Amino acid sequence: MLASGYVALRALNEVNQRKDEMVQLQRKIGAYRQLNRFGYDLDRLQFVAQDEKEIFENLRTDYEEFIRIVSQVITLIRQGRGDEGRELQFSEATPHSERLERLTNELVNKAEADMVVSVDASKETYATSRNAVAILAVASVAMALLLGYAISSSIVRPVQAMETRMQELADGDFHSKVDVPNRDELGVLAADLNRMSEQLGKAYRELEAVSRHKSEFLANMSHELRTPLNAIIGFSEVLKDGLLGQLAPKHEEYVTDIHTSGQHLLSLINEILDLSKIESGKMELDRSRFYLPATIEGTLTLVRERATRHGLKMNLSLDETLGEIDADERKVRQILLNLLSNAVKFTPDSGQISIAGAIANDAAQISVKDTGIGISPEDQETIFEEFRQVGNDREAKSEGTGLGLALARKLVELHGGLMWVESEIGQGTTFTFTLPLNAQSSVQAPNVDAVVTASGNAET
Ligand code: ADP
Repeated sequence: MLASGYVALRALNEVNQRKDEMVQLQRKIGAYRQLNRFGYDLDRLQFVAQDEKEIFENLRTDYEEFIRIVSQVITLIRQGRGDEGRELQFSEATPHSERLERLTNELVNKAEADMVVSVDASKETYATSRNAVAILAVASVAMALLLGYAISSSIVRPVQAMETRMQELADGDFHSKVDVPNRDELGVLAADLNRMSEQLGKAYRELEAVSRHKSEFLANMSHELRTPLNAIIGFSEVLKDGLLGQLAPKHEEYVTDIHTSGQHLLSLINEILDLSKIESGKMELDRSRFYLPATIEGTLTLVRERATRHGLKMNLSLDETLGEIDADERKVRQILLNLLSNAVKFTPDSGQISIAGAIANDAAQISVKDTGIGISPEDQETIFEEFRQVGNDREAKSEGTGLGLALARKLVELHGGLMWVESEIGQGTTFTFTLPLNAQSSVQAPNVDAVVTASGNAET
């Protein structure tokens, strides 16, 4: 832009000079044309015709000669020698006068020719300058575009690369690196990002190792604890059943306590063992094809006795489309039992528990609904974490371990299904889970509004 400004100014300057030249030439032509009409002012002419020295010298010589002859003619006429004077005039003055006129015309012609040359040169200067300015303007625009692209890509590209890297980090890839060669703040940021990703990867690997060790430790401990615990349960059962003789009432009470506590401890150990097996990826599903409605009904009978004792009504509503399924039957029972036990445990006497089942999106969808104490919205996700018990029912809490739902959800996920909860404090709770009909497929995240609800309830 500076260059085009410089060229434009130079062109303007040149045009200005040409204009001055032309004004000068115009004046010259005017002065030459006046020569014939108003006599020869040679001093002025000398100043005007500085560039045409030769013609001017000739003109001066001729003029002086002409003046001399004319003076002679006048002298002769005054002396009364008119004929001689006239002859001198015709023979010498007239040719000089004609020569003077010719020289004057020559001066005018030359000035006019100079004028034409100057006009042409001015035109040429204008055209050259115009082209130069146009070329420089196009070059400036091209350069601005090029620079703009270079600057924007030197910012946008690193930012995009870092965004992609962040996404990879969020997806758990701690190995890749982002390559930003910039030597500015973006380069520093990218280097920081790489360092952070490296440190995160290291921390993640350490966490994985710790978690694996924890699972292995729990699995080993649980295994070691189960053997003596089975002995405790077995022997207390023998004592309780009076196989070794009738016990005193106080002894029987204590032995029953030992037996109940042993059972509780065993279920806790079994759940811990199952969870740690899932976490360390060692839990395998023992898949088989079985009739799901029969499994649901069978599990229901396990809790019916306790439910009846509390005056709870139980509804079972299974859609006729629900049939055989490919899954681990023992684990499906375990999931159902956990949900049903909770429903019984957290529903006040004379409440209602409804079990519904249907097919939705290539999966069996089963829900256990109760009219119990309900779960507050902020607790609805934490209840699926290990050892989490919520609410104020101390007695019901002491009965449980806080592992049932964590285990149930993990078992459902192991089958490729999903588990979720809907609840309102004081109104009741509905737990729903899905099991894909096809062993390979996994279930899409559900639209909670589309949860299957019991229809045509059948009392059991
Ligand atoms: P727990 O062995 O204590 O029942 P769970 O993992 O099965 O452990 O449940 C975790 C907590 O979720 C329970 O302690 C209880 O506070 C809450 N909960 C589970 N099911 C229900 C339900 N049907 N109604 C109300 N609260 C429930």
